[in-house]
Amino acid sequence: MVQIFFYGGINEIGGNKILLKSSSGNSTLLDFGLSFSTIKQYYDIFTRPRTGCPLNDCIQLGLLPSPREAISRIYRDDLDPVLHVDPTANAEAICVKDVYLSHAHLDHVHDVKYLHKCIKIACSAITKIVLEQVQLNSRMGSQLITYTANRLVDGQLGSLVRRDWQPGDAGELFPLAGGDFKCSMHYVDHSIPGATGLLLEEETTDRRIAYTGDLRMHGRMSKESQDFIDFVADAHPDALIIEGTRLTPGSESELPTEQAVEDKISQILKANSSNLALFGCSGNDLARLTSFYNAANISHRALVVDYKIYELWKRLCTVHPYNINIIKLKVYLPRQREGDYSVDNYQGNKSLTKLVRDPGSSSIIVKAETIREHPENYLVYLPRWHINELLDLKPAPGFTYIWSMSDPFDLEGEIAEDKFNAWMDKFKGFIEKVHCSGHARPHDLATMVNKIRPKLLIPVHTAVPRAWESLGLDEGIKIEYPVLARGITI
Ligand SMILES: [Zn+2]
Repeated sequence: MVQIFFYGGINEIGGNKILLKSSSGNSTLLDFGLSFSTIKQYYDIFTRPRTGCPLNDCIQLGLLPSPREAISRIYRDDLDPVLHVDPTANAEAICVKDVYLSHAHLDHVHDVKYLHKCIKIACSAITKIVLEQVQLNSRMGSQLITYTANRLVDGQLGSLVRRDWQPGDAGELFPLAGGDFKCSMHYVDHSIPGATGLLLEEETTDRRIAYTGDLRMHGRMSKESQDFIDFVADAHPDALIIEGTRLTPGSESELPTEQAVEDKISQILKANSSNLALFGCSGNDLARLTSFYNAANISHRALVVDYKIYELWKRLCTVHPYNINIIKLKVYLPRQREGDYSVDNYQGNKSLTKLVRDPGSSSIIVKAETIREHPENYLVYLPRWHINELLDLKPAPGFTYIWSMSDPFDLEGEIAEDKFNAWMDKFKGFIEKVHCSGHARPHDLATMVNKIRPKLLIPVHTAVPRAWESLGLDEGIKIEYPVLARGITI
């Protein structure tokens, strides 16, 4: 008998926290992500969980589950002494043995930062690389790979703690829940590299459970998604835990495939061949960045990215062929500190310091003044939060900005869009929206499920789980809706 408990990802997009308890009582977690809808309710960029008691704050607000029963002792022992987290807890005492991360989006991984160091972390090798870069470059990604113990010893913070990461390869068998589940992960197509789906099997009871993570069928790796679905279908799973992000209607402006995105970008660049072209997309979405890279090549423009994308792409190209020539990429160098480009200005940022000190990087680095000389030669990544670089880029009126992300879906996003539009108005730029979702369309979701034919379908990662009932699923596929902290027995 396997029990599945849900502590997040119910009636919302993201925040997946799913626990599988084996017949012998050991458990594993499938993702441990952040609930963006809950955190936005209480916090903004000025207010955050207090550093002295983050567990207390997040548990009280419902951002983290209470450490009781199936998930007792899962949290770090150096945080929140008032919670009386058991400092003697070790791998044997903690029932949750490991956590599997389907991919590196924060709504699937962020809250791993609060987990006890004894809990092992399984994921694809590519996901581990993405998360190492996320930890290096963003505050939201801090403490995932390593953390400094938050306990004072002689007035100093504790030592560096390295978590027990166990990255693996697609298709290889590996254990979860201390060996109670035999598992295999398989690459799927999503808007971040390294995304996988999972099949778990409890050998003693012959129970099989599949988890899709996030996936789509219309990207560059649709074959991988299809292979995963075929593999799971052959296993005849007892339960399928499946995402349903796009059961909520998407934007009408979305394009049908990633190839259509690339083609549209090429058309836009062709029609605006004499002026600067800028774009914004997720910096971790290598499929989308590849679309911009290909379109830039066809249009005889150099693709200019920031140093974070450059580093990530460079590292990933060592483990996977992404069909790009890294030598052709350029890196935009912003002015810092004293307002010029002298090397000392970049101290404090290890990556940028390394880049500006490297004599070989002079052919890679591009400054605003270079772009100003021949703007028609460049396609420049300029995310919304760096839009003030327009003051240095000084594009001629009529330049193009290709917006390649979802439309805003809340008031906060609408306010940010208003500010972005004000910059575009000020510099007389044109916005072109070019995007397709990282998630499967309703029709593709139904096709997947009818192919797999699980005995039980458990919807997660959707705001409208009941929409599954009108998708035309084959008879005999029962749907069970997860309820917070209540177990579903398989
Ligand atoms: Zn995702």
